[in-house]
Amino acid sequence: MASHLTIYHLPLKQPTKLDSCHVQRSISCNFKKQESAQNSTGLPFIHRKKLLSDLTTWGIGGPCNYFIQVFNHTQLVSALRYCNEQSMRFMILGKGSNCLFDDVGFDGCIILNRIEFMEKIEESGVYRVGSGYPFNCFGVVSANDGFSGLEFAAGVPGTVGGAAYMNAGANGQETAAAIDSIEIVTNEGESRMLKRRELNFGYRLSPFQELKDLASITAVTFRLKFSKTAREMQQEYLARRWRTQPLGQRSAGSVFRNPSSMGFSAAELIEKTGLKGLRVGGAMVSNKHANFFINCGCATSQDMLELIGLVKDAVNQKFGVELKEEISYIHPS
Ligand SMILES: Cc1cc2nc3c(=O)[nH]c(=O)nc-3n(C[C@H](O)[C@H](O)[C@H](O)COP(=O)(O)OP(=O)(O)OC[C@H]3O[C@@H](n4cnc5c(N)ncnc54)[C@H](O)[C@@H]3O)c2cc1C
Repeated sequence: MASHLTIYHLPLKQPTKLDSCHVQRSISCNFKKQESAQNSTGLPFIHRKKLLSDLTTWGIGGPCNYFIQVFNHTQLVSALRYCNEQSMRFMILGKGSNCLFDDVGFDGCIILNRIEFMEKIEESGVYRVGSGYPFNCFGVVSANDGFSGLEFAAGVPGTVGGAAYMNAGANGQETAAAIDSIEIVTNEGESRMLKRRELNFGYRLSPFQELKDLASITAVTFRLKFSKTAREMQQEYLARRWRTQPLGQRSAGSVFRNPSSMGFSAAELIEKTGLKGLRVGGAMVSNKHANFFINCGCATSQDMLELIGLVKDAVNQKFGVELKEEISYIHPS
């Protein structure tokens, strides 16, 4: 595992605050390559360009003006302390598989979480996993070990921390059901352990989305049940995904949450509205799965926001249902 920690900086053009439906194109940023430097915490700074399009599955997003990659808890806390000292806005990023960054970029510091350990606890089916560990890999490991609860995870290209934060789920399973406890670090740099019974999760909702003093989830302990069919189920779930989802293309998974009282999924509503294949610039509603929006190669954040807005309006007009985004749009400032 890598042990270095690097901070990248670049001057960001002052962004215009965008409404998520407002369309703005051709935003450019001036990059300036600079030399390495040290900050007060002794962390090495490398001043150079870092594009968020390189850090997200959608492949969309301009530059952030600071970038730090952390590989362990100590580095994470140092990075957070630095952001606090500088009164700098920060965001923890996992695999960027549920995020839409703006073409303008992110005026603040992106902390890329690569805390990737996994410990098998003596008690059977209990694992303590670093929040930067790939969730899909952990799903495969636990099913191969013969444990059930996270078979669906094999198809989710996020981190363990991102899955807990989003309460990721599929195939009737969800992350929260497999959690025993969660370790977090607060904005003040204090470490805390939260037991599952203290936490209220919902459909794609976790208490962390509202927790004001949360800086980052650092580790998750899972408690899984033995099952003879875990591997088999996982293979079935994966095969179904490949049949029904555009996995070879750039997406962020489902754009909208499924409406609760409708009896139809968001994908079914979009499809029934005749929107499969609808395109704005480089952004397109997938022909394979109507709730997956594809970056066809050159999509801007504005293309994607416009497409999301069009689909919402059309579904609302036809069914009177207001779809709610599952993906997060991150304002540039
Ligand atoms: C092909 C594809 C299939 C998908 N299938 C599914 C599916 O079946 N079910 C499902 O629920 N989702 C699915 N997704 C969406 C996505 O993978 C999940 O939401 C995933 O859990 C996001 O994890 P991430 O690490 O990429 O989070 P990111 O996109 O990096 O971040 C998402 C949010 O979580 C926060 N966050 C991330 N890590 C931490 C942390 N350590 N501490 C605090 N906050 C944190 C971020 O700040 C951000 O607000 C799919 C996406 C793709 C591209």
